[in-house]
Amino acid sequence: MWQCPKCKREFKNSQQDHYCGKVETIGQYIADQTAEVQPILKKIYEVIRAAAPGATEKISWQMPTFWQGENLIHFAAFKNHISIFPGGEASAAFADKLTEYKVAKGTIQFPLNKPLPYEIIDEITRWRVSCVEKKSKLNDRIYEYCVPSLSRKRL
Ligand SMILES: [Zn+2]
Repeated sequence: MWQCPKCKREFKNSQQDHYCGKVETIGQYIADQTAEVQPILKKIYEVIRAAAPGATEKISWQMPTFWQGENLIHFAAFKNHISIFPGGEASAAFADKLTEYKVAKGTIQFPLNKPLPYEIIDEITRWRVSCVEKKSKLNDRIYEYCVPSLSRKRL
């Protein structure tokens, strides 16, 4: 690990070329990552951007974030995996499709040693968008309208 003396951030490569300041955009975040991870992050960004056309982009919790009335989904790069943070309901709703991945409360890890399941990221993002859109109209009972089976399980 190399720590930039100026901004104190840590990088895998010594003297890593990076945006030396507070990361404020998703583009800056991606540009700061290693060359091998950047194309994967760009692809994730494009998938989420297309799946959530009404969402606002920002950095929250130091992570790229799509926001639509609430945080829809975050993503972040780690040493050996990429995580998405779609919230606990999404992890539970998609559990059947995520059996080969490490899923913790609200976060799903995709190891970098195999191809990322972009179609699942797309599906989860669309699901999150449909939830917040229904929620904003109905105010509550989000589970019932999003995933009836999950709703029954949780109640
Ligand atoms: Zn720096």
